[in-house]
Amino acid sequence: MNLILLGPPGAGKGTQAERIAATRGLKQLSTGEMLRAAVKAGTEIGRRADAVMKSGGLVSDEIVIGIIDERIDQPDCANGFILDGFPRTLAQASALDKLLKQKGKTLDAVIEIRVDDSALVERISGRFSCAKCGAGYHDLHKMPKVAGTCDQCGSTEFSRRADDNAETVKNRLMAYYRETAPLIGYYYALGYLQSVDGMAPIDEVTVQLNKALGA
Ligand code: AMP
Repeated sequence: MNLILLGPPGAGKGTQAERIAATRGLKQLSTGEMLRAAVKAGTEIGRRADAVMKSGGLVSDEIVIGIIDERIDQPDCANGFILDGFPRTLAQASALDKLLKQKGKTLDAVIEIRVDDSALVERISGRFSCAKCGAGYHDLHKMPKVAGTCDQCGSTEFSRRADDNAETVKNRLMAYYRETAPLIGYYYALGYLQSVDGMAPIDEVTVQLNKALGA
């Protein structure tokens, strides 16, 4: 099964993709994660993406389409994948259609996670994660059980994304409404679109997603 999770930054795509991927044996593909890894590793793609990501803009279609083109051919995607953060523009969506056709793969579902705008800035600005295992936390909603120590791996080092600050979030939301929101209409017209209520508690959103995906 190959699916797309759509929604603004802070909607919970990453959290939900991780859960669905684990229970259904799918590979989570987050272009944001892949680009952050490229920036950290100092690759050519990382160098080209760094400044755009820091400003909250979108990296070029050519770069992200190239990444996905290569990535979905890997053996760990053979059982299916969840795209989290891709496609983000109509050009990316139509390139994805072509890639899937070329590779003899299908798209099985597109699910939009709907969230009120007012919740997004607070959700994003409070995010941080364990620097070692990546476990996610939030200043207001999910602090580690023992202050300063990761619940999952015991590490005492945490990090915040460079683009998770109130100023950049505004640009990311603008990019979402300008470039990505039109994909909701695009996939609706193709008969793929389903929606879940992203304002519900995390576990409830997972239940809704599983219902949408079927057994
Ligand atoms: P995310 O982790 O999905 O919030 O992505 C972080 C940043 O990476 C975004 O603000 C963009 O600058 C860049 N990015 C991730 N995915 C894409 C994409 N599909 N198209 C363009 N830029 C992207």
